[in-house]
Amino acid sequence: MGAPIVKCPTCERPLEWSEASPFRPFCSERCRLIDLGAWLQEERSIAGESSATPPTSDEAEKPEQGSG
Ligand SMILES: [Zn+2]
Repeated sequence: MGAPIVKCPTCERPLEWSEASPFRPFCSERCRLIDLGAWLQEERSIAGESSATPPTSDEAEKPEQGSG
C-alpha cells in the first residue's frame, strides 16, 4: 500500500499524493506557477472586448430569372 498517484494538472506527469510532493497536485513549483499564471491570464481576457459574431443572413438577393 502506497500513496495514491495523481496527475499533475499542468504537465500530466504522475506524482505521489503524499508529503513527498509538497507542490501537489502539481509535480513541481514550476508547474504550479504555470497553472496560476494561466488562469490569471484567462480572467483578464474574459473581462474585455466581446467577440462579435456576424448576424446570420441569407445570401444577397439575386435577380429573379424568369423564362418564358
Ligand atoms: Zn507538472
